[in-house]
Amino acid sequence: MSAPERALVVKSSVAQKLARISQPTPRNLARLARVLARGGLVAVPTETVYGLAADALNARACAKIFRAKGRPAHDPLIVHVRTLAQAAEVAMLHSAAKKLAAAFWPGPLTLVLPKRDCVPALVTAGLGSVAVRMPRHPLFRTLLRLCARPLAAPSANPFGYISPTTAAHVRAGLGPRLAHILDGGPCAIGVESTILDLRDPARPALLRPGAISRAQLEKVLGRPIRVPRRTAAVPASTVRKAKAELAPGLLARHYSPRTPLVLTAKIPAMHPAAAPCDAFLFFRRPPQKKSAAVPGNVFWLSATGDPAEAARRLFAGLRALDQGQWRCIHAERAPARTPLAPAINDRLARAAAK
Ligand code: AMP
Ligand code: MG
Repeated sequence: MSAPERALVVKSSVAQKLARISQPTPRNLARLARVLARGGLVAVPTETVYGLAADALNARACAKIFRAKGRPAHDPLIVHVRTLAQAAEVAMLHSAAKKLAAAFWPGPLTLVLPKRDCVPALVTAGLGSVAVRMPRHPLFRTLLRLCARPLAAPSANPFGYISPTTAAHVRAGLGPRLAHILDGGPCAIGVESTILDLRDPARPALLRPGAISRAQLEKVLGRPIRVPRRTAAVPASTVRKAKAELAPGLLARHYSPRTPLVLTAKIPAMHPAAAPCDAFLFFRRPPQKKSAAVPGNVFWLSATGDPAEAARRLFAGLRALDQGQWRCIHAERAPARTPLAPAINDRLARAAAK
């Protein structure tokens, strides 16, 4: 083998090396906190989905997030903090923000607020606002404490694909582009945080539905929250055109399996048997006899129709079905007015968007 050929082999074997999954021992946590403090990337468990974390105040570190995910630069990152004081270092906390923080932090709520100068423009896609969240997950909080920095962390998946809710999902998607994954088991909530735009506290807007509902937020704020049209699927071109005013990153197509996905209100129980080339994502377990026909073409989000369990299993279910060679995935919407239905149906609608 010639020297250039040898170099190529070495290079490709380095590129193929998969991320190491670390168990949350005190030693590993200290090591991963050092990786973050030195400007490295670590995939971390949160209560919503796994995040790809880097020092939020270090633009070079955050640039690695965009590269690893293939995320476009116009899609800003959420900054995670451990304390209210740390939130106040990156954002201006007005009284409405403080009220919501007192009620829902630590937890799955992200607030978009006027930013402070210390946050690099790269993190906020050049906007005057920053998205901030105080996560509840104890391992993520330990890392935040040990590295003593705010951490930017979008979902730890290639841009546009289904968000990861286990360490194995992270490795399957970003494996060769990432060195470190902290294993915290499956995520407790399973869908991304609720995002509330509070740039103008007099005109709050729900940018993304999540586990904390619009009604819960309205009750604490004491005023109605509008839902901008873009939270329904909008084309990327519209978002790009009106970048400054619109919330960036709310692309129509997102959370998408490779298999085409069709959304329906209710899948008849006998359909999986009748369409053996298709896959079916039920909200609730269908009657076994009618649906059993082709192994692997059925996944249900919850045996009993429990919305929290359904949200927790949503992305794992989409991934499982996406792995088969199915012609298309038929997915059932969460019944309206069940808790978490807006969040689940938002993700399904985006997964189905062309
Ligand atoms: P994620 O995709 O979970 O990382 O969530 C990031 C989303 O939060 C972005 O796509 C935006 O919709 C929103 N977001 C983040 N930062 C900002 C910001 N500075 N201003 C407005 N929206 C933001
Ligand atoms: Mg994401």
